[in-house]
Amino acid sequence: MTFPPLREELRGLEPYGAPQLSPELVPVQLNVNENPYGPSPECVADIAASVAAAATTLNRYPDREFVELRAELAAYLSRDTPHGIAPEQVWAANGSNEVMLQLLQAYAGPGRSALSFAPTYSMYPEYARDTGTRWVQGRREDDFSLDLARARDLVESEQPAVVLLPSPNNPTGTALPPEAVSMLCEAAGDGLVVVDEAYGEFRRAGVPSALELLPEHRNLVVTRTMSKAFALAGARLGYLAADPALCDGIRVVRLPYHLSAVTQAVALAALRHRDELLGKVDELRAERDALVDWLRGEGFEVADSDANFVLFGELADRHAVWQAMVDRGVIVRETGPEGWLRVSVGTPDEMKTFKVSLTAAVAEVT
Ligand code: PMP
Repeated sequence: MTFPPLREELRGLEPYGAPQLSPELVPVQLNVNENPYGPSPECVADIAASVAAAATTLNRYPDREFVELRAELAAYLSRDTPHGIAPEQVWAANGSNEVMLQLLQAYAGPGRSALSFAPTYSMYPEYARDTGTRWVQGRREDDFSLDLARARDLVESEQPAVVLLPSPNNPTGTALPPEAVSMLCEAAGDGLVVVDEAYGEFRRAGVPSALELLPEHRNLVVTRTMSKAFALAGARLGYLAADPALCDGIRVVRLPYHLSAVTQAVALAALRHRDELLGKVDELRAERDALVDWLRGEGFEVADSDANFVLFGELADRHAVWQAMVDRGVIVRETGPEGWLRVSVGTPDEMKTFKVSLTAAVAEVT
């Protein structure tokens, strides 16, 4: 036995994570789908004042039920559904990764399975691994959409405890139509269907949120995050909306006081500044659509995107192109099918630099 005596199934595995290169060396960071716009001085001042107020009581544990934050998140989500969202339908944790891990801790685990359709977010199988859940992987079509009949057959035959359906999907940007969500909720029986809307706010006009379907399906869970459109990745706040009974189940597995008083104060301050923080979403969407057009004009294959990133290919040697771009101060992500790269949508200046560096990198490598 080697030391330390790591669980057998974890031995030799690398921790998940994109390469972190210093912005001094690589100034254009387009690899982890962040919002490129930081908060204004007014917003920073409000966040700082809120943290200062929270600091006066840091000798005490925080509100374990984060009552105020749940109410504000529910009010925010209610914009996206005519049915509204009540505070008891909301649960939050340190990033939507933690929310989904808690979901599997409570509702999957040994003797149960979780399912998604590849290519998709590479953390999903890790939640399964870490909770002793059997992982079942379906496939997306060549255009990264789901063949609904095949997807339904797989869900019916596997009866997974949890189906993870990102919409838009990472790394492809593909959104799911509401009829797909409904069909899979029905096929899943008592299994949960988690629609991961981490990038939901970036969806194109006319694509409704799965939040609208909550009253029809008691097994539906919609997860969101403040890391992307909300421009708050550093604060670590993710959340979900679902049947209140489902939130109660998560309470059994959550660690006590998992959301710190500082996190709650920062998230509440950010929610007060939601208009500013979300204010760049329209610009980012327009920038994304222009990027898709430019890449297609250059002859690349490009996946349709409802997110703040774009997947493009096919490159004979994607690693060489990625490296040649890093050498020019631009980092994108090597992810998705072999031969494809994913680029996050940045500021107009960053996009100009991206285009120049991609063109030069491709010319250098081929
Ligand atoms: N879901 C998807 C599809 C993602 O791409 C990410 C982050 N890259 C997350 C969830 C988790 O984000 P966070 O933990 O920051 O909320």
